[in-house]
Amino acid sequence: MSSITEAYYKNNDQIQIINISDVTAGDYTDKYKGKLYCTTNSCTAQLSYVYREGNRSYFRTWRESPHTEQCIYYFEKLKDRSGNRHKGYQDGIVSQEQIRRSLREAFENENMSITERNDRREKQREARIRRNRERIRRGSTEQPAHRIVSDPSRITDDTTRTGVRLYKRDADALKEVDLGQTRTVTGILKSIEYGESNAVMRIEKNRKNVTIKFEEVFFSTNLQYRGMFHHIKRFMEEYDEIIFSATGEVRTNKSGEYELIVFDGIGFLIHGRSLASLASEYAIRDNVNK
Ligand SMILES: [Zn+2]
Repeated sequence: MSSITEAYYKNNDQIQIINISDVTAGDYTDKYKGKLYCTTNSCTAQLSYVYREGNRSYFRTWRESPHTEQCIYYFEKLKDRSGNRHKGYQDGIVSQEQIRRSLREAFENENMSITERNDRREKQREARIRRNRERIRRGSTEQPAHRIVSDPSRITDDTTRTGVRLYKRDADALKEVDLGQTRTVTGILKSIEYGESNAVMRIEKNRKNVTIKFEEVFFSTNLQYRGMFHHIKRFMEEYDEIIFSATGEVRTNKSGEYELIVFDGIGFLIHGRSLASLASEYAIRDNVNK
């Protein structure tokens, strides 16, 4: 099927034809969202905008709004759900609550003694077996694989929130299948560098390093963190073996090492603590010592 690059923009009784190159991710949300339609005569399919880097953005058909059979963009819905699984991923997002829980558990796991950890693993294994048995008994079908996105530019109308799991990985456990996925990654904090609107950290586990990046887009949506990362540096000067967990999208750099890009303001914990809590502790301490 050819990709859709033209759409009608219908605003009140005005109709305007627009080309994909006229739309940016920002003005889609502000202006066009919910107002784009197929340009084929007598087809009323509604379209959304999908952002892709390198001028590869396109219009996509809303799931609930099919094209008429005469339309060149008409395609038959696959009845067989299992077909989904071979069609790559369905994009999904996780809730803030899932991120919080994931980071909390990641810290607890890393902070536990070996006996505690084994006990917990055993309990989780039993729970998993019970759930699977239940699923088989109810005869529910397998869901398509989810790709969890957190980059705001990749989140569209079709992004689902249901049944999406957020997986945790130790810094040495990232694999190729994690690329492009959102994961909670944990390791010992080794270094930090920062500017006004960027920060780069390295975490390590079993001599494997992962770079954690907070880029411009993080600081533009989380203004409260600008100029606050020096508190982490101070914390590092006071303590060794700081456990750092972050939730973000997995990429690789030029030398093939894994990187994690954090987008969410609540997406990281410094030894189980938020940056805000660190900052207020230091503010109180500095005040007392004045
Ligand atoms: Zn159409």
